[in-house]
Amino acid sequence: MAQADKALGPVADLWEWQFEGACRETGSESFYHPDGERGAARRLRDAAAKEICTGCPVMLACREHALAIREPFGVWGGMTEDERQVALAERDIAAAGIAG
Ligand code: SF4
Repeated sequence: MAQADKALGPVADLWEWQFEGACRETGSESFYHPDGERGAARRLRDAAAKEICTGCPVMLACREHALAIREPFGVWGGMTEDERQVALAERDIAAAGIAG
């Protein structure tokens, strides 16, 4: 019988990728929109955050984490919150067998 705690591995391993994130050096202000931010200001801030993600060595782990926990806020793994909502909706549709 498999032991669930060993099968899952140490919880710390699930988060270890964050120590290698490029945003640890840049700070998080580009990654989360301030209250009331809209339009061009939001697009520019999101683009700046996504540019940092592009060079991040853990981008895929970060993206999958944000999608897995359905992170509602901020840029994670090079995706804005709106882009994650679209990706998750597409995954949900595919999982339900509605697509294609
Ligand atoms: S992908 Fe972006 S948000 Fe994720 S750890 Fe790297 S820089 Fe930070």
